[in-house]
Amino acid sequence: MVEVTYHCPYCGAVTSIDRAPSLQDASVTRHPLADHEYAATTADVEAGDGIEFVCLGDVGGEATATGNARSQSSTAGDRAGPRPGRDGCGRTFYLNYRQSPPPTVGPTR
Ligand SMILES: [Zn+2]
Repeated sequence: MVEVTYHCPYCGAVTSIDRAPSLQDASVTRHPLADHEYAATTADVEAGDGIEFVCLGDVGGEATATGNARSQSSTAGDRAGPRPGRDGCGRTFYLNYRQSPPPTVGPTR
């Protein structure tokens, strides 16, 4: 199990979860995708097509930032970025696992 973190698309609060390292993330969305079944974070998160999060913010104390969040662009528009330490907003968002490779639609240039 590895700990991965996601940030809420609404408010940017960071939520962390333990899950199998073999799973790959495709996207985080505000709404569930069609034909996807989502598991609660307290359930078997590897059973479904994704995870349903409730934005609770960082409940584990210090957030372990993943990746390259070093780029400090001063206020990059209104795009919500990760905001560790922020309280959650209580809304629900969805992590979608990467599944079979996407179909190649049309020519790629
Ligand atoms: Zn939130």
